[in-house]
Amino acid sequence: MATKAILVTGGAGYIGSHTVLQLLVSGFKTVVIDNLNNSSEIAMRRVKELAGEFGNNLSFHKVDLRDKPALMQIFDTTMFEAVIHFSGLKAVGESVQKPLLYYNNNLIGTITLLEVMAAHGCKNLVFSSSATVYGWPKEVPCTEESPLSALNPYGRTKLFIEEICRDIYRADPEWKMILLRYFNPIGAHPSGYIGEDPHGVPNNLMPFIQQVAVGKRPVLTVFGNDYNTVDGTGVRDYIHVVDLAEGHIAALHKLEDSKIGYEVFNLGTGKGTSVFQMVAAFEKASGKKIPLVIADRRPGDAEIVYASTEKAERELNWKAKYSIDDMCRDQWNWVSKNPYGYESPESNNNNADNGCYT
Ligand code: NAD
Ligand code: UDP
Repeated sequence: MATKAILVTGGAGYIGSHTVLQLLVSGFKTVVIDNLNNSSEIAMRRVKELAGEFGNNLSFHKVDLRDKPALMQIFDTTMFEAVIHFSGLKAVGESVQKPLLYYNNNLIGTITLLEVMAAHGCKNLVFSSSATVYGWPKEVPCTEESPLSALNPYGRTKLFIEEICRDIYRADPEWKMILLRYFNPIGAHPSGYIGEDPHGVPNNLMPFIQQVAVGKRPVLTVFGNDYNTVDGTGVRDYIHVVDLAEGHIAALHKLEDSKIGYEVFNLGTGKGTSVFQMVAAFEKASGKKIPLVIADRRPGDAEIVYASTEKAERELNWKAKYSIDDMCRDQWNWVSKNPYGYESPESNNNNADNGCYT
C-alpha cells in the first residue's frame, strides 16, 4: 500500500510539531507548510531527527497559507489524503488590538486553503478549533452541544471557520471535516527536544510559568483570586500536547469512516486545575519557586472551563493518558534543556535556514 500523504499547515508550531512527529512514526508521509511567524525551522529539524528512519518522510516548505500560487504548486506535486490545519495567529490580547491582522491571517488563510483543496479534490480536513468557542460557559463540563460565543476576535475567527466549514459541507457532502476543540495544551515531548517556544510575551499560563522558572521574567501575575473555585483562581482543563497529538491521529483514522461528514470533538481531559494548583505542581516537578503577585481578573477570562470527553472517547476511541504531574515534568524537562527555546545558546542551531527541504 502506498504511504498516505498528509499536509500539515502550521506544522512547525507547538502543537503542529508534536503532531508531525506522531504522523511520521505512524507511517504517514508528511508535508509541512509554515511561514515561521511564531515558530522555528529548528523544530522541524528536531522532529525529523526524533522520527529516526521515518524522518525521511518529512518535507517542509516555508510558505504563507495566503500565498495561493505557492499552495497550488504544492498540491500540484503531491496527492494529499487529508489536511491538518493548525496554522493561525492565537494571541487573544493581540487579536483585540489588531483584529484585522487576525481576520486576514486566520480567515483568508483558511479560505485560501479550502479553495486549493477543493480545486485538487482533497476534501478531508482536520481543523484546530478551540475551547475558546464556549466563551464563558454557563455550565461545565462543556459538551460539543454547549452554547457557543466568542469573547474576542481570535475566538471569532475560530467560530467563523467552524461555520465556514459547516457551510462547505452542507453544499458538498463529499467533504469530511473534523473540528477539534482543544482545551489547554501544555507539556512537551518526553525527549525534551521539542516544546513550546512562544515569540514575545506569552499570554498563556504555562509558558509564563516556564519563563519565570528560568529567570527570564521575575514573577507570575495571577489574574484574580476571587473566583468561585477551589482556591479562588481560574480553573482550566490542561492536556498534555502528546495526548493532543495522538488525538489528531485518531481523527485521521476517523476520516476513513464512510459515514463521517462534519463532526466536532472536544480534546481535553475532563479535569479542572486551578492556577495555584498548577503552580504547585510545576514547583514540585522543577524544584523551583515561582514568585507570584495577585492582580485583578483578566478581562474576558472565564471562571471554570473543562471538557466533556465522552464523545471523543466513544467515537474517536481516544482518551488523554497523561496527568498534570506528567505535563509539568515534561514541560520542565524541555525548558531546563532549552531555557531560551530553540534559540538557546546550548542548542545546536548552526544548520538552520529558511528554505525548503525534503
Ligand atoms: P503556534 O503559534 O505554535 O503554531 C501555529 C503555526 O502557524 C506557527 O508555526 C505559525 O508560524 C504558523 N502560521 C501562522 N500564520 C500562518 C500563515 N498565514 N501561513 C503559514 N503559517 C502560519 O500555535 P499552536 O499552539 O501550535 O496552535 C496551533 C493551532 O491550535 C492554532 O490554530 C491555535 O489557534 C489552535 N489552538 C491552540 C491552543 C493553545 O493553547 N496552544 C488552544 C486551542 C487552539
Ligand atoms: N493566568 C494567570 N496568569 C497568566 C496567564 C494566565 O493567572 O500570566 C490564568 C488565567 O487567568 C486563567 C488560567 O491562568 O485562569 C489559564 O489561562 P490561559 O491564558 O493559559 O488559558 P485560557 O484562559 O485561554 O484558557
